[in-house]
Amino acid sequence: MWKDYIRKVVPYTPGEQPKNRKVIKLNTNENPYPPTPKVAKALEDFNKDCLRLYPDPTASALTKTLADYHGVDEDEVFVGVGSDDVIAMAFLTFFNSDKPILFPDITYSFYSVWADLYRIPYERPALDKDFKLVKEDYYKENGGIIFPNPNAPTSLAVSLDFIEDILKHNQDSLVIVDEAYIDFGGDSALALLNKYENLLVIRTFSKSRSMAGMRIGYAIGNKFLIKALNDVKYSYNSYTMNQTSLVFGKESVLDDNYFKETVDKIVATREHAKKRFEELGFTCLDSKANFLFVTHKCVPAKQIFTQLKENGIFVRYFDSPRIDNYLRVTIGTDEEMEALYKFLERYVVNA
Ligand SMILES: *Cc1c(COP(=O)(O)O)cnc(C)c1O
Repeated sequence: MWKDYIRKVVPYTPGEQPKNRKVIKLNTNENPYPPTPKVAKALEDFNKDCLRLYPDPTASALTKTLADYHGVDEDEVFVGVGSDDVIAMAFLTFFNSDKPILFPDITYSFYSVWADLYRIPYERPALDKDFKLVKEDYYKENGGIIFPNPNAPTSLAVSLDFIEDILKHNQDSLVIVDEAYIDFGGDSALALLNKYENLLVIRTFSKSRSMAGMRIGYAIGNKFLIKALNDVKYSYNSYTMNQTSLVFGKESVLDDNYFKETVDKIVATREHAKKRFEELGFTCLDSKANFLFVTHKCVPAKQIFTQLKENGIFVRYFDSPRIDNYLRVTIGTDEEMEALYKFLERYVVNA
């Protein structure tokens, strides 16, 4: 009998984390550069005695640092164990109506997993043939809206006007903008927070801040939304943020120069990569993220993916409708990218 009462879920499938560290890893949108040296220093200086104690449940050192950085109040920031934790918490907190929540057919594949886990009904309006969001699709009645800007895996960003239109047409539901990749290009919806109380913006340290292994994400919204998130968090696990995340996360935010230099390097490599891919016969969407979404004019994506993998270069391939002839390629260092072009120069020409 008990078997009938197990919660049945189809889990999210993350990109592969190979045990062999020698591969060129362009499959999970990690940052190829290390976090600021201030983090390494804080790691050396870390007071091990505090591991004995519970961390600050309010995570105030990090929350306060982020609030100052973004020019908002401390009670307008919520931190979590990566943005996955923050988004999952937001689904649990805000998406409790009987109406379906809306997110695009092609987007971060974790959204449908959380919706299924929490039994939230959802609809997935289709992106248009150019993989663009269609804003009118989000004007209908709904129980909430979420989309990433820039979108993943398409890499395309929408304008602030576009987001504002969606907010205006949805004053009765919560709109979440997942800004995992915003530092690499698009315009942040943070600029709209003062005008719309139904907006929640979610960010992560995993991509632009080179700290995927640390697991830090956060949400910014008005204090009513943040209190609701905290109430749910404290009903679930008071100590989500461990002591090291609080200390190292703060160091990362304080070193803004290093952060901006790193992001600029990745953007420069991305723009160069677009040209190189096009010379090789690929079409690239206009990426505002730290990855490219590419398709080749004659060689099937799955075949390229497999060949790359056999040659120690990992990229991401999604065997799903509409995107099964595309590859998502994370921007690595210039060296890593050169190794990729070198392989492709031989492979796609001879294929
Ligand atoms: C990477 C990613 C996340 C999750 O990142 P965390 O490592 O959990 O912070 C969330 N949304 C999108 C669109 C992402 O690509």
